[in-house]
Order: sequence, then structure tokens, then C-alpha cells
Amino acid sequence: MHTGNQQTRSESWQMQLANCVTRPEALLEILGLAPTLLPAALDASKTFAMRIPRSFIARMEYGNPNDPLLRQVLPVGQELTDVAGFGLDPLGEKDKNPTEGIIHKYRGRLLLITSGACAVNCRFCFRRHFPYQDNQLSGQHLQRALDYIKSDSSIREVILSGGDPLAASDRRLQQLTSDLAGISHVKTLRIHSRLPVVLPDRVSDDMLHWLRSTRLKTVVVLHCNHANEIDDSVKAAINRLKMAGATLLNQAVLLKGINDSVDAQVTLSEKLFDAGVLPYYLHVLDKVQGAAHFDISEESAQILIRGMMEECAGYLVPKLVRDIPGKASKTIIPVS
Ligand SMILES: *Cc1c(COP(=O)(O)O)cnc(C)c1O
Ligand code: SF4
Repeated sequence: MHTGNQQTRSESWQMQLANCVTRPEALLEILGLAPTLLPAALDASKTFAMRIPRSFIARMEYGNPNDPLLRQVLPVGQELTDVAGFGLDPLGEKDKNPTEGIIHKYRGRLLLITSGACAVNCRFCFRRHFPYQDNQLSGQHLQRALDYIKSDSSIREVILSGGDPLAASDRRLQQLTSDLAGISHVKTLRIHSRLPVVLPDRVSDDMLHWLRSTRLKTVVVLHCNHANEIDDSVKAAINRLKMAGATLLNQAVLLKGINDSVDAQVTLSEKLFDAGVLPYYLHVLDKVQGAAHFDISEESAQILIRGMMEECAGYLVPKLVRDIPGKASKTIIPVS
């Protein structure tokens, strides 16, 4: 049977983004989870809203409250406990904000906050308290950000960040890419996004069009924390990005009870590699208020990386890093 219409095959990514599950009641119902989880989920979602694409929920195991994908996104009571050392702006980003929408901490590269929105709200997010409202890149703010990049010829790479930069429309991203390509010292466009993983239909034909047609080298850094996040639809999205000429890397966050075993990390690296992606960074948790229950000691993280080195090829072992405010780069945690 011919329908002659692509849109009938699946909803557009914009529709899927609008149809994210945001009510804890609905999430528990879809996954057949105990209503006893509800009061805490409702409470914790008041400080940081719950938000999950349905295509991501489809990769969770029905009836399993410990599912590694679910635990990244389900609001829980532990988020409301204040823990010493876990603050509101753990990376000191507020001081490195030279103009709206730019975070310039390292030489040669900077972050351009392209969209304050995310497709998914990750409970461990280090930006859960970041003042995004002040960082909307519209009109004169965008012009000032571009002027800032233009005026500093040491900037070779612009990193679209957020929020999630791919929450912005392709029309905006196409325009932005062309503005950046117009600055001759900018060579590389890097995109840090969780969308190709949590909502793979985001890798639309329109996106491939601007990605393929820019003179800039393109790098897409996925944020995938667990092997179960990669299904056939994600592999297809990754393949499309590669066909458009992008270099594909992954960064993950080390999360207690979710991906803190050698087996979980090796499986993740192998599955990423199978899909055409190399691991880049494994971040130990940024100490943000509300995320202390995901924290792993540095010693355990080092033991885990050592274990990985004994189990798989060296190029499948990510660099273990911490983001320390005031440093000129990420800090590599040495593994002996
Ligand atoms: C992480 C980060 C970068 C990118 O660092 P790389 O080591 O090049 O991946 C750039 N700017 C800021 C502010 C960052 O936090
Ligand atoms: S910025 Fe990244 S980690 Fe934070 S909520 Fe958005 S997608 Fe998740």
C-alpha cells in the first residue's frame, strides 16, 4: 500500500518533542510501576521538571524500577536532600559568561548556548540550576555573541551547547552555521547533544542538509550513558550523521547504580563502536545540588577504568575526566 506521505510513517521530531512525557503519573502507568514511587516523583519534579521523550521510554524495561534508562530520568526523593559540597553552579560558569549565550573557559574553543531547552531532563544534570532565561540567543544577543567570536582570532572551534542545541529549529541552526562559517578563523563546529540518542528522528533531512553543506569540519558528541540507549533507530541516526561527514564521539557521565561497572562500560563502548562512534570522555559527576546520590568516589572510578583497559581495546576506553572550575581544560584523572 502506498501512502505517498512520509509524515504518516512516524511523527515529526517536533511533534515527538512536544509529546514528551512530563507527568510522573503517566510515566509510572506506561511502565507498569508501583504507585508508591509517585509522591517522591511529584515532589522532586517541582524543583526540576520531569521530561522524557516517548521513544526513550520505549527502550526501558516494563515493570523494572531499576532500569538504567529510567533511573536517569525518574525524579526521586534523594534529589531533595542537601549534601555538603554539592552546589548550584558547580562549574563556575556564571563568571565565564562574557556575553549572553557564550561560555568561554578554554583557549581556542568556546560554548555557544544555542538553546536553553532539552528533550530530556536528566536528573544528574550539572546545569539543572543554570539561568537559561538569561541565555537566549536571539536578535542582538546573537549578534553580540558572533561579534565576540569574530573579535578573537584564537577561536578555532565553536561548540553548540545548551540545554540541547538540537532542540533549536533547523532553520535557526542553518543560519547560525552559516554565520559561523563566515568567520574565517573558525574551522570546526562541534555539537554536543543528547537528542540523536533520546529522540533519533531529530536527525532529519533538514539537519543533514545544513550539516553536509557547511565548509566547517563537523563533530557531533553524543551523550549516551548506557548500552541500552542504543537501538536500531539510534544506529540509523548515527549512520546518517556519519554519511553527512560528521566525526562521531561520545561522552558519558559515571552514575552510581547505572553504569558504574566494568561490564556496563565495556558493553557501552563496544555498542558505540559497532554503531560507528568512539568514546571520548567519561565524566565523574559534577557536584550539583540534587545529584549526590549518583556520585562515585574517584578511587572507584579509577579502578573501573583500569578494569576496562584489561577488558577491551585501548581506543574503547574513554578518558576519565573531572571539570574543575578555574582550570584551563578538563582535568584528566590519572589511572595507574
Ligand atoms: C568541556 C568544555 C569545552 C570542551 O572541552 P574539550 O576538552 O575540548 O572537549 C569547552 N568549553 C567549556 C566551557 C567546556 O566546559
Ligand atoms: S543539558 Fe544534557 S544532561 Fe542536562 S538535562 Fe539537558 S540533555 Fe540532560
